[in-house]
Parts: sequence; structure tokens; C-alpha cells
Amino acid sequence: MGRIIAVANQKGGVGKTTTAINLAASLAEYQKNVLIIDMDPQGNTTSGFGVDKNELEHSLYDLITDNCTIQECILENVLFDTLSLIGSNVNLSGAEIELIDVERKEFILKDALDEIKDQYDFIVIDCPPSLSMLTVNALSAADTVLVPIQCEYYALEGLTQLLHTINLVKSRLNPDLEMEGVVFTMYDARTNLSLQVVENVKDNLQERVYKTIIPRNVRLAEAPSHGLPINLYDARSTGAEAYHQLAEEVINRE
Ligand code: ADP
Ligand code: MG
Repeated sequence: MGRIIAVANQKGGVGKTTTAINLAASLAEYQKNVLIIDMDPQGNTTSGFGVDKNELEHSLYDLITDNCTIQECILENVLFDTLSLIGSNVNLSGAEIELIDVERKEFILKDALDEIKDQYDFIVIDCPPSLSMLTVNALSAADTVLVPIQCEYYALEGLTQLLHTINLVKSRLNPDLEMEGVVFTMYDARTNLSLQVVENVKDNLQERVYKTIIPRNVRLAEAPSHGLPINLYDARSTGAEAYHQLAEEVINRE
């Protein structure tokens, strides 16, 4: 049975997209069948896999607005034999308004994924930096939520709100939703601050925390401009090693 993982945090710039791209690519390297879904109108996950977001024949927007089937918007063999992508672009930013009086609007993604879920080992959803209807769709469809937390002074800010939203979705829309866990990103071993943030979040949070900590690594920031995930851009970088290890932890989670 496939596992649907929503990568979510309403804060921008915490490493959601970097984590979604590189977790998916590392899982594919482990020969897992992976579908990655770009749920952010910025389309950074789409271009991060070298796909031109402005040339998509069918994007997530078309699926959400009922203008194509899920099969039609899946791109197969994206850089890996076992990796598929549903891409997005700026069109998606209009979806919110179009959904206003649609029935079961919280379940559009879930209903679509139910048709194809069995074909994949993992479905990874990169959420937008908001707690919008798009994020609610991702959380309603997901089995688990993976929350990237940036090792910075304001790390805990907004987390209460995110956990509250997750609990609301769990009680009203998706009773089976679980926390996949928290993953620390952009860890800088040269500063005490990073270490303090990790300790502080662990003390203040009941949630499961991944052992793997993603370091700050310039190769991770460079890779998207080459349209490649880190394991194809620089497999020997500390960033590639970390996401490889995270994938292993995710696989062994059961
Ligand atoms: P989000 O999707 O949460 O907005 P991103 O994954 O886009 O966050 O990351 C924000 C910025 O930080 C991007 O420019 C990205 O390349 C960079 N970045 C993310 N993770 C790392 C890291 N571990 N090391 C260095 N740069 C990173
Ligand atoms: Mg992002």
C-alpha cells in the first residue's frame, strides 16, 4: 500500500520544496515507485525536476478544476524510471476562488488519488506556504505530514497554528492523518544557534523527530537551477547524503 506524505509548513523558505524534491528523488533511487505532486503555484518543484512549468499540457490546476483526469496530468519517467510528477504553475493560484462553491472541495485531490494510489510506494506532496484550501486538500489526501523546520531563531513560530490545522483536518476531514515527523533543515554546524534550535524544538514538541538533520549546503541551493535533484547534481555532497539518509528513515518508518 502506498503512503501519501504531505510536506507542509505555512512558513515560506523553510525547506519544503527542497525536501519534497530530494526526498522523492532519493526514494526513487531506492527503486521505489514515487509520484511527486507540486501543490505550489510557484512551480519550483516542477522546474526543480527540469520540467518547464509553462509548457505543461495538463497541470494540477486542470485536475483541481475538473478539466482533466489524473492520468492525463501525470508525467512519467521524470529523470528516474520510477518517478512521476504532477506539475504546477501560476495557474494554480486561481484555483482557490474557482473552488468556492464546489461540492467536496476539500476532497478533490483525495478523490483523484484514490484512483491511482495503489500504483505507487510513495506519493509526496509539496504544499504551498499557506494554510489555504490547497493545503487542506493535501492534508485531506495524506496519510502523514512531514514538517520541515528551519534551524533559525523563529523556528517555533507558527508551529502551534500548523499543528492546530493538522488536528482540525484530522478531526473533521481525515481521521487517519498522522504525523510523519519533523525534519530539521539548513542546520549550520558552525553556529550554536542551530544546535539550540534543535534542542529547544525537541523539548517543546511531542512530535516524532527524524534523526537525519539536513545541513546547510550550497549544492542543495544550486541544484534547482540545473533542473536536477541533489542526487543527480552532486551525489557526494553533504546535502545528497542527508536526503539519502532521510529516505532510508522514511522507508524504515513502519
Ligand atoms: P520552501 O519550499 O519552504 O519555501 P525552499 O525549499 O524553497 O523552501 O527553500 C528556500 C530557499 O533555501 C531556497 O533558495 C533553497 O534553495 C534554499 N535551501 C533550502 N534548503 C537548503 C539547505 N539545506 N542548504 C542550503 N540552502 C537551502
Ligand atoms: Mg516551496
